[in-house]
Amino acid sequence: MIGAGVFGSWTAEHLRRAGHQVTLLDMEGPAHNRASSGGESRMTRGAYGKDAIYTRMALDSLKEWKALSATAGLPILIPNGVLFFFPEEQAYLTDSIAAHRALGLPSELLDGPAMARRFPMIDFSGVRAGIFEPGFGALMASRAVQTLVRNYVAAGGEFRHELTHFPQHGGPLKSIQFASGSTLEADAFVFALGPWLPKHFPDLLGSRIFATRQEIFYFAPPEGDRRFLPYVMPGWADFNAGDMYYGFPDLEARGVKFAHDKHGVAVDPDIQSREHTQAALDEVIAFRDRRFPLLRGAPLTGAEVCQYENSSNGDFLIDRHPAMPNVVLVGGGSGHGFKHGPEVGRLAAELALSGGVQSEPRFSLATKGDTQHREVH
Ligand SMILES: Cc1cc2nc3c(=O)[nH]c(=O)nc-3n(C[C@H](O)[C@H](O)[C@H](O)COP(=O)(O)OP(=O)(O)OC[C@H]3O[C@@H](n4cnc5c(N)ncnc54)[C@H](O)[C@@H]3O)c2cc1C
Repeated sequence: MIGAGVFGSWTAEHLRRAGHQVTLLDMEGPAHNRASSGGESRMTRGAYGKDAIYTRMALDSLKEWKALSATAGLPILIPNGVLFFFPEEQAYLTDSIAAHRALGLPSELLDGPAMARRFPMIDFSGVRAGIFEPGFGALMASRAVQTLVRNYVAAGGEFRHELTHFPQHGGPLKSIQFASGSTLEADAFVFALGPWLPKHFPDLLGSRIFATRQEIFYFAPPEGDRRFLPYVMPGWADFNAGDMYYGFPDLEARGVKFAHDKHGVAVDPDIQSREHTQAALDEVIAFRDRRFPLLRGAPLTGAEVCQYENSSNGDFLIDRHPAMPNVVLVGGGSGHGFKHGPEVGRLAAELALSGGVQSEPRFSLATKGDTQHREVH
C-alpha cells in the first residue's frame, strides 16, 4: 500500500482487517503537511444533490469516523452540524433532501428567516433556502489519519517511511524499490498517491488528475463572542450562485475557517509555495465581510496552502491499472474525498483482493476524461 493519506491509510486498514499482511508506505508521515489529507479540518456532509452515491458513502463512512474518534484522546469528528444555503430552491437542494429522506436522515429544510433566527453569526441576505444536517460536521484531518495509522500499527499493520519507485511495464508488478536501496515484494499493490498520481503515472494519469492550488484562512472571532463556537455555529457552505465558499466555526481556538471552493492554478505538490497569496486572502475577506459582518476586521490567525487532486468531473478513481493486473490506483478526491476515506478504502481493498473489475462505472479509469468539467459538488 503506497501513500498514507486518507485513502491509502483506510485501504491498508481494511486489508489488515481482512487478515492480510499489509505494509503501508509513505515518503513522509501519514497526512503530512504537503499531502492533500494534511491540515486542520475537513467537512463531512451528506448533501450531494443528485449524486446520492456520495450521500450513502458519507453516511457509511461516518460510522467509521465515529468509531475512530472514540479511540482518540482528542476529537476526530466534531458533529456540530452542517448548513448549506442557496439563493433559491435549486435542484441540488431538493435532490439532497430527497436522498436524505430515502436514507432516513434527519436533515432539515430551512427558509431564510428560519436560518437567520437560528444562526445569527451569518447574514443571509439574498438567501432563500438551506439544508441543515445534524450529526455531520468537521473531521480533524491530520489527527484523524495519524490516529488511524497508529491504531493500524497497534493492531499488527506495518508502516514504513520510504520514498517509493516502481517500474511500469506490462504484466504483474513483482516488487517496488525504495530510495533507501531496499525492495519490497508483494502479491498486490495499491497506489493512493493523491496529487502525486499524475507525476508517477504520467502516461495513464498525467492528463486525467489535475492538482490545483487551494488556500484556506482562519480568523480570530471577537473576544468572548460565543456565536462562533462549535455547536453554536455550524459548518457551512454558501452556494453563492455557483461560486461556493465554505468554512467552520472556531474549532479548538484555531480561528474561524474560510475557503473558496474554486479550483486554483495547476501545481506540482513537491514544489508549490506554501505561503498564502494576498489575492486569495483579499477574496476571502471580501466574502467574509459581506456574509459574516461580525467578523469585519478580525485578525488572521493562520493560513494553509494545499492542493486538490481533481478528476475530470469530481468522481473518484478506484480501478485496476490496465497493464498491471495486480496494481490498483486510488485517488481523484477532487476536494471532497476526505469524508469518504473509510468507504474508498473498503472499495479499494475489495478490488485489490478480488482480482475482478471495477463494477461502479463512476470510479473506473475509463470514465476519467482529460478535460476538467466539475460535476460533483
Ligand atoms: C484545501 C482542501 C480542502 C478540502 N476540503 C475537504 C472537505 O471539506 N471535505 C472532504 O471530504 N474533502 C476535502 N478535501 C479533499 C480531501 O482532503 C482529499 O481528497 C483527500 O485528502 C485525498 O487523499 P489522498 O489519500 O488521495 O491523497 P494524499 O493525502 O495527498 O496522500 C497521498 C500520499 O502519497 C504519498 N506519496 C506520493 N508519492 C509517493 C511515493 N513515490 N512514495 C511514497 N509515498 C508517496 C504522499 O506523501 C502522500 O502522503 C479537501 C482538500 C483540500 C486540499
